[in-house]
Amino acid sequence: MDELAIRRIVVVGGGTAGWMAAAALSRVLGRAVEIELIESEAIGTVGVGEATIPHLQYFNRLLGIDEDDFVRRTAATFKLGIEFVDWGRIGDRYFHPFGTYGQEMEGLHFHHFWLRQAQLGGALELDRFSIGADAARAQRFQRPDHSRAGSPLGTISYAFQFDASLYARYLRERAEASGVRRTEGRIVDVALDSGNGHVQAVTLEDSSRVAGDLFIDCSGFRGLLISKALGAGFEDWSHWLPCDRAVARACRRTTDPLPYTRATAKAAGWQWRIPLQSRTGNGYVYCSDHLSDDEALAGLNAALDGDPLSEPNFLKFKAGVRHKAWDRNVVALGLASGFLEPLESTSIHLIQSAIARLLTNFPDRRFNQHDIDYYNRRTRVEYEQVRDFIILHYAATTRDDSPLWRYCRSMALPTSLEERIAIFRENGRLYRHDNELFSETSWLAVMHGQGLVPRRYHPLADLLPEGELDKRMTHIANAMRLAVDRMPSHQQFLDQIGRTA
Ligand code: FAD
Repeated sequence: MDELAIRRIVVVGGGTAGWMAAAALSRVLGRAVEIELIESEAIGTVGVGEATIPHLQYFNRLLGIDEDDFVRRTAATFKLGIEFVDWGRIGDRYFHPFGTYGQEMEGLHFHHFWLRQAQLGGALELDRFSIGADAARAQRFQRPDHSRAGSPLGTISYAFQFDASLYARYLRERAEASGVRRTEGRIVDVALDSGNGHVQAVTLEDSSRVAGDLFIDCSGFRGLLISKALGAGFEDWSHWLPCDRAVARACRRTTDPLPYTRATAKAAGWQWRIPLQSRTGNGYVYCSDHLSDDEALAGLNAALDGDPLSEPNFLKFKAGVRHKAWDRNVVALGLASGFLEPLESTSIHLIQSAIARLLTNFPDRRFNQHDIDYYNRRTRVEYEQVRDFIILHYAATTRDDSPLWRYCRSMALPTSLEERIAIFRENGRLYRHDNELFSETSWLAVMHGQGLVPRRYHPLADLLPEGELDKRMTHIANAMRLAVDRMPSHQQFLDQIGRTA
């Protein structure tokens, strides 16, 4: 091994981020590198974070996790997308599905043909062209069946809704089995090298000292190393995303779990409903300028559809990102690196993708600044792209029933988002930037769902004769419906897997 190779990694924090990092790094790096994770039960974890996006499947696969085992151990349900209620205006309801709408035709995105048909009159609703949206409404689920060439069953895309604390425990078992050492205790001091300013070691309450070559800061909002010790600043995005509080509370499940998350807009924020096998997760994300904690809790309690199973968990945050997620020999992951509200369930994904990026740019003890700069640039771009997508939900609205909505509908937007909206309004085009996380399907679902209507569509969509267009659209919608009719109910699918959690 190179004498400059990293030999000791210290992971600070044992929330979702800490255990994801420890499990992935130990799996990939093997026992050549010692990994120690420090966490403090007295401080605890954020303890929410239940809805995910499909990419988590890749992370689980990297770890060699059997998906059925994972579903059983984390009380997971399957998720086909998110239902948004009351966002564009009160009374509206739309679905943001995973996967795609329809199928590409004549080399063009499907939605241009759908826009043309809508302008001609007589188009079916957009959801009829998404297997995810159609199945979600029918409360059905199955994994994609790739043996059915050309069938929509081959295009099903799904994620999970799970108990994040059970997931962290599950990852911990795997990480410890592959050699990660766990240390319980509160870190009270951080020692920096007087020369290069790198973190040398952390000291625990019992005076023990843990040294390392590379430190992964997963200490949550505190940012113990990246912020408190190294002073990497924070860029505040709360002028675009003013919600700064949440209250979460689980309740007893009263019906079969839905295969989707629901996000309902409220006067001063929005509420989530996430069905797990064991319970239903609920929360209210709100803006403290417009709603008190007591009012938020009362609003949340009124929305519970079963007896509460826990005391309310209040959380404070600020939307934004660290100027540098990687500074010197410290890489911040999870809440220590930035925060975007959980409207599109992206935080766990941002942890996963940061771990992948860290592995791509894995350092030796020279810590090449070009690699670090590259990592930071990519991290920032990723955060900005997700940020724009989340802002879209607040900005594309006609709601004016409260100060929050009046502010959001008229606030100045990031130029990147303003341009996208202008292009879509003009000719329906959706450019996916730089292989970004959210696809054309996602942008279309939210833009259309929240009432943005393009003036035109791609001119090449006119090349298909009208009769042929109608025939193809009817065929696609019928194929979706037939496929959904073949699927088992979500509950039947879960029953086949069984449950241990
Ligand atoms: P934490 O969970 O806060 O963990 C921090 C760790 O650091 C703990 O182990 C703590 O003990 C340790 N620590 C801190 N200080 C010290 C110290 N001095 N000494 C020793 N140890 C220390 N994400 C999604 O993907 N989907 C969702 O649906 C979702 N919903 C969310 C809802 C809300 C309201 C919030 C706030 C977040 C949500 N998230 C969601 C984000 C998700 O919860 C986090 O990304 C995830 O939990 C990662 O948290 P973390 O591990 O970074 O921090």
